Amino acid sequence: MNMSKKSIAYGKLVRLFQKRPILARRLLSLGTTLERARRKIVAGTKNDFSSWVDLAALSIVASAFSGEEVALVNLFFPSEIMAGFGLKCVSAEGLAGMLAAMHLEDLALARAESIGVSKNTCSFHRAGLGLNLLSMLKNVRAVAVTNMLCDGNVPIFKTIASFYGMKLVVLDVPRSFDEANVDYLSRQLESAVQQLESQLNRRFDWKKFEEQMKIESEIFETLRELYPKLCERPIRMHLYQHVNLLYTIHVRPDLHLLKAVRALEKDLDKTTNQSTKRFLWMHLSPYYDNVLNEIFSKDSPHTVVACELCWDWLDWRIDVRRGFKSIAEKLLLNPLLNDARRRAEFAAKLAKDFRVNGVIHFNQFGCKQSSGSIELVKGIFDELKIPFLSLDGDCVDHTSSASEQFKTRVQAFLEMIE
Ligand code: SF4
Repeated sequence: MNMSKKSIAYGKLVRLFQKRPILARRLLSLGTTLERARRKIVAGTKNDFSSWVDLAALSIVASAFSGEEVALVNLFFPSEIMAGFGLKCVSAEGLAGMLAAMHLEDLALARAESIGVSKNTCSFHRAGLGLNLLSMLKNVRAVAVTNMLCDGNVPIFKTIASFYGMKLVVLDVPRSFDEANVDYLSRQLESAVQQLESQLNRRFDWKKFEEQMKIESEIFETLRELYPKLCERPIRMHLYQHVNLLYTIHVRPDLHLLKAVRALEKDLDKTTNQSTKRFLWMHLSPYYDNVLNEIFSKDSPHTVVACELCWDWLDWRIDVRRGFKSIAEKLLLNPLLNDARRRAEFAAKLAKDFRVNGVIHFNQFGCKQSSGSIELVKGIFDELKIPFLSLDGDCVDHTSSASEQFKTRVQAFLEMIE
């Protein structure tokens, strides 16, 4: 999303109606609809990669308030399944981020804490849960989650599902890729579809599912084809636009993203080799307006050229004919799924491919899966002699005291690299 002063001002207006959720939701719907219309004009006019990505990311959160039928999911739930039911996926992480961009996250965090959720729980989970408990979302028709990477997802999403009187759809994703696990997971996808058919009282539409798979096939084929050029001459993007990209790729790789990748080749032809310092970003980054977006802006001499979570599905070769088995392969091929060493090796490959000058790992408070493997990840970059910064903070809570340290810590790191 875009962390602008406008978002904060609009958040102040919404806050006035915090005790009247229907009015607050209408305001959020109006604000996101207007911003979506603006981004559509920008994307149509510029027709470049990052403008389409910005539109795609905003369109996802906007649908949570607009009345479209949505499925609330985590970042790794396969959106193709929901496409077969005509439901738009929205992730709780993205909604928490949108609140943070508007400086409204405290309302949702406080609501989650009021039912006993500990402050030590990841703020994505607390804010995502709180937003639902505040009755801010309009037309949630399903709640679904995988247990990939994050052990907090299942209990938090179970609480959200029970709030709507629904049964949570859960995918248990094994930690390694082999035929037995592909079969195990594709059988679970079949059960999930049966569960959703009975809950929604509608049939799964294979045609819609296949259309979605075809869109993704073109997206991933194009990204794979352009990857060497992108590594050679990365396009300039703001740090927050990498987050928009990872969010879109995971939650709803739709026609907007397809237009983005179709525009990418043209953008790459215009990109020249620049003498900026290149960085790999690992895990997430704060969604609220913060100094990291200034330091790593599009026009800065320090550019984030790749974000770990934008490239984790690059090895997935979509085979529409294999149906759910192909979706199972997508989840099982994710390099972040296995042990921490595989994650570290994947990050090292990205760093070498994009020829980065440094790596920054953002440690979200309360996130054990990303921060727990820091020593191993750091070790691999030490061996490669690529400078590595482990940066603590909170992606959602803009009042977190760690954000005051960002500037000092990152500048010291950048000076070391100069
Ligand atoms: S930041 Fe970590 S703990 Fe929070 S939702 Fe993501 S994976 Fe889970």
